[in-house]
Amino acid sequence: MITPFREAAARIYNPHAAEWFAGGGQIAGYTCSFMPPEIFHAAGILPYRLRGIETETMEIGDAYYGPYVCTFPKCLLQLAGQGKYGFLSGAVISTGCDAMRRLDECWRMAGKDYPDALPEFFHYFDVPHKTEPHALAWFKDEIRRLITAVSNHYGVLITDENLKSAISCYNRGRELLLEMESLRAAEDVVISGTDAFTVAVAGTVMPRQRFNEHLEALVHELRAAAPEPANGRKRILVTGSINDDTDLVGLIEDAGAVVVADNICFGIRSAADMVRTDGDPVDALAGGYLSNSVCPRMFGAYDQRFANLREKAARTGAEGVILQNIRFCDMHGSENSLIEKDFEAMGIPCLKLEREYGPLTETGRMKMRIEAFLEQLS
Ligand code: SF4
Repeated sequence: MITPFREAAARIYNPHAAEWFAGGGQIAGYTCSFMPPEIFHAAGILPYRLRGIETETMEIGDAYYGPYVCTFPKCLLQLAGQGKYGFLSGAVISTGCDAMRRLDECWRMAGKDYPDALPEFFHYFDVPHKTEPHALAWFKDEIRRLITAVSNHYGVLITDENLKSAISCYNRGRELLLEMESLRAAEDVVISGTDAFTVAVAGTVMPRQRFNEHLEALVHELRAAAPEPANGRKRILVTGSINDDTDLVGLIEDAGAVVVADNICFGIRSAADMVRTDGDPVDALAGGYLSNSVCPRMFGAYDQRFANLREKAARTGAEGVILQNIRFCDMHGSENSLIEKDFEAMGIPCLKLEREYGPLTETGRMKMRIEAFLEQLS
């Protein structure tokens, strides 16, 4: 039951996206969990969260970005320049952080030197950093602007009914992800953290209807399965910078832990909030996506984010917290220090792990630090 998710999460051009493409379907990439994929789903286009796995060299990323910046957006640019995203007919870049915002200008510039790198539809989607009424009004305008741009470019009509149906389909996936999440809180292991994270990543790169069907079957199977005894493995919560690489969670679990919860962009983090299905769908999308201050990109909501983490740790019985961040990520790097201070004040030990994004080039160093941390918890 886990196989379709592993297939989807293991490769950039995964078999589900390839099948969609081979059937004549359009695929549009996006960079941030604040961009509602429901808009593309409503247009009959597959929304695909851009990923950085499979990056082997960095000459294109380095040429446009320079060296001292988070490697995640650089990897996206590298892959785009190499033509790995040639299956996309569109891409939407958002201001998750400044490094990600710069992907818009760097990719446009690289598109001049690498002719096939830039998808035909290339759109900048701004996201406010606050949730006040004026920010919400701005965000609604951005959503309407995106709907108009997609409609005009692809020649499709995105009706309120299409949007509401897309919202319902995404909500069903959210319900199932939350159900899987609740199973992770059990004392014995119903699903490993690596598999749970794989499922969440897969949900961002495969057709939602198909994702829901596979997840429904998986949750059904997990409910009936005999749990595996934890056998003294330490229960860990992982949070911090963006990550779409399942090997990171695997590395922690291979060191003798079980990741009982995560709060990582690409993971379960933004799946918790249902989007309303009544009223104006643009209002519903704006409220649903902006009100959720799960990311430190949102100003003034640290208390809300820490309360959410504290609840997760308490519900899952986490014995330690791993706070990872990609080098040069100021947002997560600084917030991780606050989280560390607050968890340690509660008696929950933390490990701050700064790393380079990419094929686990620092595996040895990270493994050693994780093992030492787990030993400290014993
Ligand atoms: S990890 Fe940090 S710096 Fe990198 S894209 Fe995400 S928020 Fe930006």
